[in-house]
Amino acid sequence: MKTIGLLGGMSWESTVLYYQMINEGVRERLGGLHSAPILMHSVDFAEIENYQVSGQWERAGQKLAAAAAGLEQAGADMILICTNLMHKVAPAIEAQISVPLLHIADAAGRAIKQQGLQKVGLLGARYTMEEDFYRQRLLDKFGIEVVIPEAKERELVHRVIFDELCQGKVTGSARRSYLAIIENLCARGAEGVILGCTEIPLLLGPDDIDLPLFNTTALHADLALEHCFAEIATGAA
Ligand code: GLU
Repeated sequence: MKTIGLLGGMSWESTVLYYQMINEGVRERLGGLHSAPILMHSVDFAEIENYQVSGQWERAGQKLAAAAAGLEQAGADMILICTNLMHKVAPAIEAQISVPLLHIADAAGRAIKQQGLQKVGLLGARYTMEEDFYRQRLLDKFGIEVVIPEAKERELVHRVIFDELCQGKVTGSARRSYLAIIENLCARGAEGVILGCTEIPLLLGPDDIDLPLFNTTALHADLALEHCFAEIATGAA
């Protein structure tokens, strides 16, 4: 198995899911006492969120790039940024490492393509929904068109992520609001919805709505597992 490097803590509520899902994937494949070789650098999320709101993306990028380089030095064979939003600084991180950065939007794009969908809704942090770094990648690499919620809805989606989910609060009222927003996205042509924030799967899942949901946390963890076992799968080394 290759060693998986996780940039975590953004927030730790979802990093826990990565750790669990990756280990479950190893158990499924190898059984017994096997578990995943993982190195993690978990940041103080308050510091990162402070960079976000003050627009200091370059500093955030430097911080995460240094952490990623440390993981590589310690033996990580790949790096995952355990958040959709902080892929905004993926280029800065990639510039400091020589191992692959497994991009979360690629994990989502591939799954959407596999289901044959062309237009999907996107829920996530404000910047993820509104800026180009995520949506454009889906369009350029996978030809997927993205619909985002209306302004007021985006505010709510963002607020729930930062004031509730990232702080361990999961409420029925937030779930109902999200489901109503998803209905609106459907009415505007979305054939499925990307849960483009790694904490959203804590709030809702396939049992809550009859529509393809793309759980980026799970898809990203799956991508890590694939790379983890790549050599075994191809028979090399
Ligand atoms: N975990 C969230 C995401 O997937 C947002 C938290 C953050 O990185 O700021 O986008």
